[in-house]
Amino acid sequence: MTRFTAKRLPRQTGPAGWNAILPPQTPLPELDQDLTADITIVGGGFAGLSAARRLHQLDPSLKIVLLEAGRFAEGSAGRNSGFMIDLPHDLASDNYAGDGLDADRAMIALNRQAIAFATDIAAECELPQEAFDPCGKFNVAATRGGDANNRDFAAHLNRLGEPHTLYDRQQIQQITGSPHYTSGLYAPGTVMIQPAAYTRALSSRLAGQVNLFEQSPVTGFEQQGTGWLVNTPKARVATGRIVLANNGHIESFGFFPRQLMHICLYASLSEPLRADQIKALGGQPRWAVTPADPMGTSVRRVSGSYGDRILIRTCSSFHPTIETSQMRLRNAGWVHDRKFRERFPNLPGVQMEHRWAGMLCLSRNGSSAFGELESGVYSACCQNGLGIARGTLQGMGIAELIQKGGSEIADHFLAQPDLPRLPPEPFASLGANSYLIWKEWRSGKE
Ligand SMILES: Cc1cc2nc3c(=O)[nH]c(=O)nc-3n(C[C@H](O)[C@H](O)[C@H](O)COP(=O)(O)OP(=O)(O)OC[C@H]3O[C@@H](n4cnc5c(N)ncnc54)[C@H](O)[C@@H]3O)c2cc1C
Repeated sequence: MTRFTAKRLPRQTGPAGWNAILPPQTPLPELDQDLTADITIVGGGFAGLSAARRLHQLDPSLKIVLLEAGRFAEGSAGRNSGFMIDLPHDLASDNYAGDGLDADRAMIALNRQAIAFATDIAAECELPQEAFDPCGKFNVAATRGGDANNRDFAAHLNRLGEPHTLYDRQQIQQITGSPHYTSGLYAPGTVMIQPAAYTRALSSRLAGQVNLFEQSPVTGFEQQGTGWLVNTPKARVATGRIVLANNGHIESFGFFPRQLMHICLYASLSEPLRADQIKALGGQPRWAVTPADPMGTSVRRVSGSYGDRILIRTCSSFHPTIETSQMRLRNAGWVHDRKFRERFPNLPGVQMEHRWAGMLCLSRNGSSAFGELESGVYSACCQNGLGIARGTLQGMGIAELIQKGGSEIADHFLAQPDLPRLPPEPFASLGANSYLIWKEWRSGKE
């Protein structure tokens, strides 16, 4: 009998700050009674929730069960920086430009399908602008090298025919209030989300259409007749098909061994700024910047019902165990404080209220872990760091593959080359962590 057992389950380090600043939410139930389903989805991040929505759209009569190990918005879906990006965003590049004009055009069109899907969700859920804001983003530079990256990326966008605007030092300071930046490249297509608010809203919306369970980790699954039996600590689901939408933890079931790179990112969110601090900072009440060097520091200013706050996101580390440590989180926090002081000398004394870590999953060649792995077992994992748009897209695509036998989205992911293997341990960890440290050091003030 074919059986897959989870070697490990997700463990989070630090609070999911975006979720912590929202009012408490009534938990959804735990799975505590055996059920039957047509399709069982494992994981309630962007991919899993989007798969559930798309499956329900395609066939409202389907009995769908979604099992989330923790609480919605407590995993990476509630721990990211909230950039739902339409343009090429190759984190391994020097300036984000992607794989060539045709490949980039195709990826942009697909990312925009994901953004349109999310825009419908935001409208149905009546998400306010503070949670779903189609405001675009800036690539900001702080050095001459960064300025050159921005100019290179602008030239790439020109070739793609994508609208963008270059801002000089004074103009970017008028927006951010920060004297740190020397130039900015604005592109209008990114949607900035409050990721926990979005994830909560989507899960609440789906709760009437799909059987959603929180605190219900899948510990294993085994073949049973023509279907599968999915195990959780308290009960089981007899199901026709399974969608694994648990990102890097797909490896915990034994799939894609040594093909996935488990990277941890770290973020800090400030306490709410006081009126005098807001005045001292100046600039606009909401903006979002990614660094001109992809390994630099992303910063966001948010304002709304949860106060006027600043997010700092930088530092990364590689963990084959899919979890980091409190010590690494503390060390990242020191770096965040330094980056904050460099950017906001006009905000002395502002403290960070929440600090957290979160995992994401990359492959060496940028391919995803997508498709049918075993008869009736599907994967929509490995978002290569861009999981808000790409996780949404993979969720849509896997639903279309199951229900329609294929689609433009599914075909895109199915056509990607196989995921290459990583070197054995400890070489993979040593190599990856040295590379990350070098890239972060090289990004300097960016
Ligand atoms: C600090 C940080 C900043 C980031 N910023 C951005 C950004 O600005 N833009 C962007 O696009 N991406 C960003 N990312 C990456 C993004 O968050 C991820 O790529 C995205 O969450 C992946 O979506 P997903 O649905 O595939 O996986 P996840 O969001 O990780 O969801 C998978 C879910 O599966 C659950 N799970 C795992 N194992 C099991 C099991 N055995 N049983 C049941 N459930 C299970 C987990 O609890 C989790 O909730 C960032 C990530 C971090 C950590």
